[in-house]
Amino acid sequence: MTEKYTYDLSEGDASMKPLLGGKGAGVAEMTRLGVPVPDGFTVTTQACVETMRNGGEWPQGLREQIDDALTRFEQRVGRTLGASTNPLLVSVRSGAVVSMPGMMDTILNLGISDDSVGAIAEESGNERFAWDCYRRFIQMYGEVVEGLSGHAYEDALTAMKQRRGVGLDTELSAEDLKELTAEFKKISNEQLGGEWPSDPREQLFRAVEAVFRSWQNPRAKVYRKANHIPDDLGTAVNIMQMVFGNRGETSATGVCFTRNPSTGEKALYGEFLTNAQGEDVVAGIRTPRPLEEMEQVLPKAYRELVDTMHTMESHYRDMQDMEFTIENGALYMLQTRNGKRTAAAALKVAADLVSEGLIDKEEAVRRIEPEQLDQLLHPAIDPSNTAKPITKGLPASPGAAVGAAVFDADTAAQKGSSGESVVLIRFETTPDDIHGVLQSQGVLTAHGGMTSHAAVVARGFGKPCVAGATEIKIDTEAKTLTVGGKVVHEGDTITLNGSTGEVFDEALTLIPPRMNEDFLKVVGWADEIRELGVEANADNGPDAAKARELGAEGIGLCRTEHMFFGEDRLPAMHEMILAGSDEERQTALDKILPMQQSDFEAIFTAMKGLPVTVRLLDPPLHEFMPDLVSQALKVQEMELKGADEQDLATERQLLAQVKKLHEQNPMLGTRGCRLGMLYPQIPEMQARAIVRAALAVLEREGETVELQIMIPLVHLRQELATQREIVVRAADDELAKAGKELAYRVGTMIELPRAALVADQIAECADFFSFGTNDLTQTTLGISRDDAENGFLGWYEAQGVVKRDPFQTIDVDGVGQLVEMGTRKGRAANPKLSVGVCGEHGGDPDSIAFFQQIGLDYVSCSPYRVPIARFAAAKAKL
Ligand code: ADP
Ligand code: MG
Ligand code: MG
Repeated sequence: MTEKYTYDLSEGDASMKPLLGGKGAGVAEMTRLGVPVPDGFTVTTQACVETMRNGGEWPQGLREQIDDALTRFEQRVGRTLGASTNPLLVSVRSGAVVSMPGMMDTILNLGISDDSVGAIAEESGNERFAWDCYRRFIQMYGEVVEGLSGHAYEDALTAMKQRRGVGLDTELSAEDLKELTAEFKKISNEQLGGEWPSDPREQLFRAVEAVFRSWQNPRAKVYRKANHIPDDLGTAVNIMQMVFGNRGETSATGVCFTRNPSTGEKALYGEFLTNAQGEDVVAGIRTPRPLEEMEQVLPKAYRELVDTMHTMESHYRDMQDMEFTIENGALYMLQTRNGKRTAAAALKVAADLVSEGLIDKEEAVRRIEPEQLDQLLHPAIDPSNTAKPITKGLPASPGAAVGAAVFDADTAAQKGSSGESVVLIRFETTPDDIHGVLQSQGVLTAHGGMTSHAAVVARGFGKPCVAGATEIKIDTEAKTLTVGGKVVHEGDTITLNGSTGEVFDEALTLIPPRMNEDFLKVVGWADEIRELGVEANADNGPDAAKARELGAEGIGLCRTEHMFFGEDRLPAMHEMILAGSDEERQTALDKILPMQQSDFEAIFTAMKGLPVTVRLLDPPLHEFMPDLVSQALKVQEMELKGADEQDLATERQLLAQVKKLHEQNPMLGTRGCRLGMLYPQIPEMQARAIVRAALAVLEREGETVELQIMIPLVHLRQELATQREIVVRAADDELAKAGKELAYRVGTMIELPRAALVADQIAECADFFSFGTNDLTQTTLGISRDDAENGFLGWYEAQGVVKRDPFQTIDVDGVGQLVEMGTRKGRAANPKLSVGVCGEHGGDPDSIAFFQQIGLDYVSCSPYRVPIARFAAAKAKL
């Protein structure tokens, strides 16, 4: 027996969404509930999927089944498609499982023909209306089904209006439109190189085929990618009897939401147009009127609509987004779906539905899209703005930034710290730019992707960032940015929309972030549900305080390298690196110690009572040194100019050291605990600074943090054993000197495949593991994180070779195995071991679901992703 490919509306219901698509299941459910819906039938998503698999060929039996379903449909309504008496007109509508508003094609008024147009004119008593439908249909069919260009039709319409001396389509008479219809047919024939298919049944088959095809159109693909909707689901096709909102002043069409989708308020929200077809509202051809006004114009239909809205909302127990049409005063519902909403609205609706008793707390949490909460945490561009962007890059860090363009980090730092709003524009950003980034409203880069350092750093600071805006040309000498003939000079105001990647050459108005009561209420429910701990990655006091405010239960990763980058520290750092002897090195480190201690004190004060995991120095030393090429050039220039011998000697020594430290693959070089092995004084100094800070805070605040000291980039048991010994000796020495007791734990990052493989050996020396999934992904896949997105990985994603960027969402099959195995082996060897994740993945909802599944203890992410992680962890548990 062949598959059943068509369902009459009366055969379906809401549970059949996967087969009938959202729209098909929605209209079937409304039919079942007795809501007035035009009759029709649905062709299943299965038919579309099989057609795609067969390279466009329809599966056996589909044509016959559509034919039969149409015949039954015709019998039910007592009309015949395209007939000269009692003609049936239909819409042929796309409808995917996950709603993709406006992304695919829909054909209206199919069935109008030379045979049926007369009957339609007679029935409606409106000849103009009949010919208007006919000419609209020819154009829509030509463009959507036959792929003809719309220009010729538009030109013919404009020419007709000019000949008649009128400005609006509505001013053309029935005769004019009849003439236009004939012209449109000629245009179709010419473009098709033959007669255009005028048999309505044949047109219907071709329209179904076209809707199947529209699943593959570029905007649908882009939309699916952005929303992580699988490419192989296919669309259903809904064939429904046309109802006409354009039959005069007692007819209308519109869209309504059962609650306000921007704010979540429980209030009518909608728009309508009298004497119009649905597309006019959806495509914005005319400016619609607020729904409230319909009460005056069409009171009976209005009351019915309001009743239906209530019925459908309590039936679905969620805010509905509905389309309706009124024909001669009679209301028809054409669509209902759970309405898309802003994050603020999502929280309010969820909270309200719980207090109204429609859903429980778990359901409320289940309905929050964690990723969307980002919107709440950054000032946003006023959605009513209409400015046009000058270019578009990757939406690397959400939110809006308005400020004066600056082209180097020093200027940004200087202007920013004096209170000016600046936006830093760089070819790409390096750790050296950090001071500029911190003082900027946002960052724009020509290079680098969404997981580039610039983006990671920007997100960490909650700084909006547009990265990889490849169209822009930056001239750092002239201090200009050029794109599409426009030039932005230093000091000119620009606006970044980090949520969309758009860049504007003017100041747009911003609206403040919202962290309201609804948020606190619903996130509280999430916290009751979740098992995974949620901590934050924070490197300074203000970030730590922010993280705590956003609900972080500790700091899972405090990077210490930024503590070496400060203007007051770099000279001491250079001294340390250039040191010729251990004594010289110790002298330099002694200068750095108190500075680090004060940084730690700020963080510990913000986090007192909670765990803080401090990672010892990680990056290769050369990152603290000038660049090899520029240093060589500097020396050369000084030699040519005959500079002071003493100065020259210093610069030469620096150059020699830069050369010595130079590595071909610094990320695989002398970094992490390897530095601590070569220079044990560094971890020793850091351990002392950490313990002194913890004691100082205890003294001052009467309470301190749960100390955890973390050794990076370990791959051998011996590395951890040695580093642990150094740390313990220094820490215990500090405690003894102070005559104090303080518990602390020493653990390690697991970020190299070997470390995961021998996790049992390593766990013997560790109190905790923290999976550094950024490096672990980089080293497991052999893909450089900083180069990947603009290189082949971006291409892989575009081509579908990989489904998700493995630096954003954990590669469960590969890297995930290492995390799972490392955890299992580690806990077997050391039952007290606690295990977490501190890479970018710690804030990614899909990755969090995996970490919950394999039973990790906590995740740690950027402060601004903490609320997202709280919800994601709860949803992972449900
Ligand atoms: P989309 O998914 O892009 O919203 P739809 O299939 O909902 O596409 O169709 C677009 C518009 O066409 C709708 O807004 C609706 O008002 C109108 N429409 C669709 N089917 C009918 C119908 N049977 N009668 C009247 N209008 C219709
Ligand atoms: Mg629609
Ligand atoms: Mg790392």
